[in-house]
Amino acid sequence: MFFIPFLLCSIPFVFNEKIYFSQIVYMAEVVLMISISMSLIYKFRKNTYTVAQGIILIGAILLGIILYRIQLIGFFNISSIMKRIFIIAIISFNILLANKDEKIFSQALLNLLISEILIIFESIRIISYISTVFKCMAYFHLYIYFFKKVNFTSRNKEKIIEKEKGLYNKFSKLEFEKQLFYMKLKNERLLNLAQRDELTQAYNKRTILDIIEKSIKSRKRFSVLMYDIDNFKKINDVYGHITGDKAIKNLAQISKRSIRDVDSLGRYGGDEFIIVLPDISHKGAIHVAERLRDNVSCDSIPRFTVSIGIASYPNDGKTGDELIEIADKGLYMSKEKGKNALSHGRIM
Ligand code: GH3
Ligand code: MG
Repeated sequence: MFFIPFLLCSIPFVFNEKIYFSQIVYMAEVVLMISISMSLIYKFRKNTYTVAQGIILIGAILLGIILYRIQLIGFFNISSIMKRIFIIAIISFNILLANKDEKIFSQALLNLLISEILIIFESIRIISYISTVFKCMAYFHLYIYFFKKVNFTSRNKEKIIEKEKGLYNKFSKLEFEKQLFYMKLKNERLLNLAQRDELTQAYNKRTILDIIEKSIKSRKRFSVLMYDIDNFKKINDVYGHITGDKAIKNLAQISKRSIRDVDSLGRYGGDEFIIVLPDISHKGAIHVAERLRDNVSCDSIPRFTVSIGIASYPNDGKTGDELIEIADKGLYMSKEKGKNALSHGRIM
């Protein structure tokens, strides 16, 4: 907005054109005031403001060129009073449009208006001086206003950028935490899938054997129950394999119900399960085994019973294999006893 009028004012100096300087200043002011009007009109449409700024710049250049050409062919020889009225009209229009909160800007326009009104009486020398003083004040105010505005805008932009950066960091941190959470969840699911038996959701054979090994490493006492369904083949034969599957699933459910959260249930294979009971002695293991046997014989669908073998660390064995062997022996002995029983492999 200022560049074009400035350029217009500079032309006569550079090219030594034969035009009155006052006319060039007048022309520059017209371009400036029209540019300000345009920008004030478009200011209310925030979305189009940037586009409008571009249009205003191009418009001001074109207007400058056109007015300059017209100036050269003498069009501005129209009565000076008409010219004054024209510029006064544009300035008044701008005063009406200007934001009243922007006092310096309004003051600048007002000073300019006073200067333009006073210049009508330029024949009175003193009034022409006063007019010049008002004009100087107007440009000084305009300068202050735009200087502050540009500074404020750039500082504001910095602040906004800082804020956006902060938000972005916060957002990326949140996004990162979200991704981490999903990754952990996915890992947990994968781990679960790898560790669990699909039918019963109990631990699979490898995992329950790992748990026994880990329990041995901790060197704390624990007991192992090994058990399987009595006459399971018959269930399969009479009711079919689907019901057989349901019976295995049902045994896993009853087993989970019969043990603590810290205990681990694993499917050893077929209809055979293992329970690891941390911090449980042989005597305690007998209680748990009895409870399990009772629960199964009462709640199983279709009705079935289980035979159980018991082994305890460290008395029955120092390794996983030894403990499994003793528990397996106990299971065999329970079968020998006539099933639906529990036995300790070492006590014959
Ligand atoms: P016992 O009382 O001596 O244990 O006799 P049993 O009939 O239960 O004999 P055993 O435990 O050896 O039989 C296991 C049978 O379980 C053999 C197999 O056909 C069946 N089986 C193994 N896995 C599955 C399974 O996932 N689903 C079903 N429906 N049957 C299975
Ligand atoms: Mg069986």
